[in-house]
Amino acid sequence: MTMRRAGPPPSRPLPGVDEDTKPFWDFCKQHELRVQKCLNCGKLHYPVSPICPHCLGMDHEWAKLSGKGEVYSFIVVRRRYHPAFASDIPYAVAIILTEEGIHLLSNVVGVAPDAISIGMPVEVFFDDVDPEFSLPKFKPSR
Ligand code: ZN
Repeated sequence: MTMRRAGPPPSRPLPGVDEDTKPFWDFCKQHELRVQKCLNCGKLHYPVSPICPHCLGMDHEWAKLSGKGEVYSFIVVRRRYHPAFASDIPYAVAIILTEEGIHLLSNVVGVAPDAISIGMPVEVFFDDVDPEFSLPKFKPSR
């Protein structure tokens, strides 16, 4: 028998932040999706890293992405892995390929998970989940 505790719903885990990733999350809080652009080779890279994976350069700026992309791959979560996400089931976890060629792990919302398809055009929006965090998520493009 499962015991259910009364009380507030469990809080959702939030991303861990360090000095390298803080700018990414600060831009998200401003509703801007930015990734590092290497000042040596000029290429974009993500996930956040102090070193360019293309040329090992150490200097970068933060380039703003268009926010547009497509579903590169996805799964639909149909069982509870964390109690804080139970009310979202079923939900889609997707890899988004942005117009600029960056792969991001996120959610696709605003559409039934079973209606999501590979190649579906999507655009970013920011889910203000906490005073400190706005999470980049994606919805079908209009
Ligand atoms: Zn580089």
